[in-house]
Amino acid sequence: MCLICDRIKMIEEGTNPYFVKELKTGYVVIGDNQHFYGYTLFLYKNHKYTELFQMPKEEREIFLDEMTKVAETVYNAFNAEKINYE
Ligand SMILES: [Zn+2]
Repeated sequence: MCLICDRIKMIEEGTNPYFVKELKTGYVVIGDNQHFYGYTLFLYKNHKYTELFQMPKEEREIFLDEMTKVAETVYNAFNAEKINYE
């Protein structure tokens, strides 16, 4: 099991202390390390895909829309100057 799947399993079991919110295609978590204040991850639920182009188009559009909403929320919550995506 990879680290992301392990973290998702913790969310599903209610044991991930960094869990914030479940969306349709993923889970929002605050990063364990806040070296970059506000570091947040949007963990894609269907982790069998490792690239955006592998995802079914309809699901990818929902994921990217949700990712954009997460970014806007983080931007506002942490008063960010810029959001970096990885
Ligand atoms: Zn995984």
